[in-house]
Amino acid sequence: MLSRFPRVRLGHLSTPLEPMPRLSAALGGPEIWVKRDDCTGLSTGGNKTRKLEFLMAEAQAQGADMVMTQGATQSNHARQTAAAAARLGMACHLLLEDRTGSTDPNYTGNGNVLLDHLHGATTETRPGGLDMNAEMESVANTFRERGRTVYTIPGGGSNATGALGYVNCAFELLGQINDLGLVFDHLVHATGSAGTQAGLITGLAACNAQLPLLGIGVRAPRPVQEDNVFKLACATAEKLGCPDVVARADVVANTDYVGEGYGIPTEGGLEAIRLFAELEGLLLDPVYSAKGAAGMIDLIRRGTFRKGQRIVFLHTGGAAALFGYDKALRA
Ligand SMILES: *Cc1c(COP(=O)(O)O)cnc(C)c1O
Repeated sequence: MLSRFPRVRLGHLSTPLEPMPRLSAALGGPEIWVKRDDCTGLSTGGNKTRKLEFLMAEAQAQGADMVMTQGATQSNHARQTAAAAARLGMACHLLLEDRTGSTDPNYTGNGNVLLDHLHGATTETRPGGLDMNAEMESVANTFRERGRTVYTIPGGGSNATGALGYVNCAFELLGQINDLGLVFDHLVHATGSAGTQAGLITGLAACNAQLPLLGIGVRAPRPVQEDNVFKLACATAEKLGCPDVVARADVVANTDYVGEGYGIPTEGGLEAIRLFAELEGLLLDPVYSAKGAAGMIDLIRRGTFRKGQRIVFLHTGGAAALFGYDKALRA
């Protein structure tokens, strides 16, 4: 029972599960559906909202008057945290890491950064490559010395508390699939800080769903990504009271679609953005969901996912970042 855990309602849930007939026809492979977690409602939506329902409840339970988190300059997680804090009347301070080296003013000030400030968050920047969670704790301590009660949220909201949001998504998705009376062969999504995949794997395993899950990596190499997901899934299962429910073999990440690095657009990702936009009226983002979709599309073209199968793409959101990447999109 997830209701044993404190939760504050922030999202518009359940999110829709919809077919993508035009994209499916264009690719000529499996029937592709989309789980619309880009529509979670909070400040243009996205996957962090589900995690924040559990994280912000914990912050409230601890009497926090301020939350802090960290992420890349165009972090969707930072933006959704700023919005959640605004909604709950807490202050929000964000540490933004320069992972791309871009000096484009739209990258550094538009998109998610513009929204962070609209939600009243304060921000500080850091060069790339630091231990950002350690940086955050040290800044949090300076606020604590000044009397603030600060709740810190790790990058991507990815700890066992945040991952409960994706256990919840697994339950929700299975309910929708059962209501439709359809069988799905695979679930695919972009994986980064690991909380989404860890929560989904735990929820699916706890239900014995037998729905294989593939995470498409956006940053780390495969062994590191799979290790991160597995560790967090084990911690999440432990928290849920079903330790050992997740097998190492359940954790599959494909990191062939990262390209040059985190936050740097790829040809495949830009193609995925155009295909989703032109065929389905859906907006992907160049950092996460487009790389996830590019992986799915390539695996369809290679025949890994094929005609006669039915797959679901979890759309994790991120469209606000498009306005930080207009140059890549126009090129
Ligand atoms: C954070 C994010 C992801 C990755 O989710 P993790 O839980 O960090 O693995 C995917 N898509 C978008 C749009 C995101 O913002």
